[in-house]
Amino acid sequence: MDSFQNLNALESRVYKLRDPAMEFICPLCRTERAFTVSHKLSKLHFLQMIFLTSLVVWIFYPYAGIKTLPVFFGFWAIFEIVVRVRFKNEIPCPHCGFDATWYQKDVKVARQKVREFWESKKPAPENNAELSEIEVEESNSQE
Ligand SMILES: [Zn+2]
Repeated sequence: MDSFQNLNALESRVYKLRDPAMEFICPLCRTERAFTVSHKLSKLHFLQMIFLTSLVVWIFYPYAGIKTLPVFFGFWAIFEIVVRVRFKNEIPCPHCGFDATWYQKDVKVARQKVREFWESKKPAPENNAELSEIEVEESNSQE
């Protein structure tokens, strides 16, 4: 982690995550970031899969016998998808909207995502109207 410390983050994390899966600095806004989940299945996931498989086998053994065992691979596939989806949801930077996966695939889309992120940060039009009214009042009072 020496190289990570040498990189100067623009904004260090306000709160530290307990046991992060990975720590890094956002390449666009240089904010310290961390993943809470890994993209790989852990030993605990496999234990959960074994538990679910034994439960299903225990329930369906009288009807299908040993044929229920391959259900383990079904659970494996589901777990793999869930872990990857959870990991993917953490990739976009919550501070600037930078998405590294899109940057790898298509830079234009990644740029569009960042633009959309900042568009969503803009105050709503009705708030803008209020703001411009305040600005008008202020300029009037100055005269
Ligand atoms: Zn960022």
